[in-house]
Amino acid sequence: MKIAYVASEVFPYAKTGGLGDVAGALPIELSKLGHEVKVFMPKYNTFGEAEYGLHYEWDIGSIPIRVDGHVYQVHVHTAMLPDSNVEIFFVDCPHYFHRFRIYTTDWDEDERFILFSKGVIEILQRIAWAPDIIHCNDWQTGMLPIHLKENYGWDKLFDKTATVFTIHNVAYQGIFSKEAFEKAEIKYEHYQTGGLGEYYGNVNFLKTAILVSDAVNTVSETYAKELLTEEYGAGMQIFLASRKDDFFGILNGIDYNVWNPETDRFIPYNFTCENLSDKIKNKKTLLERLGIPYNENVPLIGIISRLVDQKGLDIFVYGINQLMELDAQWIVLGSGLQKYEDLFQQIAVRYPEKISVYLGFNNELSHMIEAAADIFLMPSRFEPCGLNQMYSLRYGTVPVVRKTGGLADTVQDWNEFLEQGKETGTGYSFVEYSSHALLLSVQRAIHDFHLKDVWKKIQLNGMKKDFSWQKSAEKYIQIYNHAIRKRNG
Ligand code: ADP
Repeated sequence: MKIAYVASEVFPYAKTGGLGDVAGALPIELSKLGHEVKVFMPKYNTFGEAEYGLHYEWDIGSIPIRVDGHVYQVHVHTAMLPDSNVEIFFVDCPHYFHRFRIYTTDWDEDERFILFSKGVIEILQRIAWAPDIIHCNDWQTGMLPIHLKENYGWDKLFDKTATVFTIHNVAYQGIFSKEAFEKAEIKYEHYQTGGLGEYYGNVNFLKTAILVSDAVNTVSETYAKELLTEEYGAGMQIFLASRKDDFFGILNGIDYNVWNPETDRFIPYNFTCENLSDKIKNKKTLLERLGIPYNENVPLIGIISRLVDQKGLDIFVYGINQLMELDAQWIVLGSGLQKYEDLFQQIAVRYPEKISVYLGFNNELSHMIEAAADIFLMPSRFEPCGLNQMYSLRYGTVPVVRKTGGLADTVQDWNEFLEQGKETGTGYSFVEYSSHALLLSVQRAIHDFHLKDVWKKIQLNGMKKDFSWQKSAEKYIQIYNHAIRKRNG
């Protein structure tokens, strides 16, 4: 099967969250299953061309692409995704992609990704490569399926091409004023009231993709069910319900080449299930580096997160006094909303011996925290899949999570399973979204941390779980086949 995988961020070139990790791993896994995969992303100026061995595509040269009546010359660079035979194409348009951040709140954010969507299709035309599937991800690629169908429907190259759209987070929908569709040159009827893209007088890229793509999925089974409800659907539940025969949930995998305590190059002491006792050396090293007193009997609790409301930081901050009274130490790595950055800074000043806060994005430190911490906290209000709890499980760092979305699908509560006579739990979870429920679960974890045999059992249960991409990639192939059948009757 020929698969074009399209995303606005791909690790290692650009990453702000889980999408980057997924887009850097799933295409490689699909190619290992014997499929021909090409990846497409914008060429941001946040990463260097030499650094990643990008080549300018002379054969393609310059492609004129029109957005809002202006023609931009787009150039193309290529490279191979690390350690793979998957080619990646970079859509290079400095006017749109040379900004301080990869996502912006600039007035032309819609234009940036309209250009990207058109750019991908035009590259496919230039290289005369007819994919069976174009797999789009999140609202930034939401215009591609409708463009393919309507603006490029004349091109025989795409006669059989089906589209699949993955929702990595329904909270980000790409809502713009209705001029966005004019800029994209999408037919007027689609942004009239009740049209494919119309949403309360604006246009909504996510809605358009949900309604137009041949198949739609999200990144865990529980989140797929949640998205059909008013509480979690963020307005998309009606449109998803209208696609319920074509809507699926597939759990993300994790890339064990990158996230593996046995080989992780960012941690000073590698370890496995067999020499789990070496894990603690990472904790000692990290605490020494941070200038926090080390005590092997005091659990270290890690948080790595975008600092946004979704991640449950309000219930964490609300319960901060009681949490800081616990006999535990904390390390927080995150960046995001100013209000949370300020709050965490204040907390760090108030409890210098208890908590260390690093504000910013730091890949190396994120690996170090996974290796060093005893417990990992993810109290998300909602969580489409979540990767960090899966990394934690692999690193023997016991997760405490709110039971929602992908967290519910990947973490089994130790006590809940114990009540059923099973010692198969891998962490702790709570249902009620409150500081109190969070506190109780952290207390349960700390209690068991001191029961050395129990703790080791929980750690090993988690470390032995298999979240490799292969299983998920096979499920994506099933969805691709569904989409192809749908497209071609
Ligand atoms: P989301 O995509 O909602 O941010 P995920 O758990 O799916 O959440 O993925 C987050 C990814 O981003 C993980 O790989 C995590 O380690 C990483 N990450 C988040 N914040 C930071 C940060 N401040 N520094 C380094 N890595 C981070």
